[in-house]
Amino acid sequence: MPITTEKVKEFLQRAAEVLKENKEYLTELDSAIGDADHGINMDRGFQAIMAKFPTFEGKDAGTILKSAGMALVSTVGGAGGPLYGTAFMQAGIALQGKYEFTLEDLVKALEAALKGIMNIGKSKPGEKTMIDAISPAIEAMRKALANGSDPVRALEEATQAAEEGMKATIPMIAQKGRASYLGERSIGHQDPGATSSYLLFRTMLEVAKEQQG
Ligand code: ADP
Ligand code: MG
Repeated sequence: MPITTEKVKEFLQRAAEVLKENKEYLTELDSAIGDADHGINMDRGFQAIMAKFPTFEGKDAGTILKSAGMALVSTVGGAGGPLYGTAFMQAGIALQGKYEFTLEDLVKALEAALKGIMNIGKSKPGEKTMIDAISPAIEAMRKALANGSDPVRALEEATQAAEEGMKATIPMIAQKGRASYLGERSIGHQDPGATSSYLLFRTMLEVAKEQQG
């Protein structure tokens, strides 16, 4: 069954709710190793996406995601905005013109998103960032796709990998962003960006499940 533009919109809507619900939690994580604004940033960014919803009417998935990415870049300061903004824009470019798409298209879009983050952030896995949740999640999806899994199964694997990747940031030393200023004192804290990325994968899974049931 193809993934539709409606599902993309549902994802953005549900993500805005989830990030609002987790605003305090993400900010608390960021207060330990950053500047205590990650939850506020993500909530503000996704509210800006919500404000753009009327312009999404009749648009393809790529255009919607690009527009969402631009909303994040223009409303969210710091590192989180440009990084997530670029991710959504790159995913949008990958899905340009598509009103329906396959799991393979979704994996390609997520790969483009990750590449965008790594380019902008000059970052790689193992540096205690959002990449440590996103990269294993995509890897899991690629495997699921190769095994002929459906989107729900693939996103189950991805969400589990993202959660493990998020937890794996706890013992890491931060090497990018504000947390890197702490050096070894960043050890023992879960990365806020990896946590928001996990939440976004979990939300994709939730929305994909609704499609089936
Ligand atoms: P800021 O650090 O400017 O306050 P946020 O608090 O919104 O921005 O986001 C912090 C998160 O951004 C970190 O937890 C980390 O996951 C991610 N991050 C920071 N710098 C980079 C980078 N260079 N590459 C990838 N992710 C990064
Ligand atoms: Mg911050």
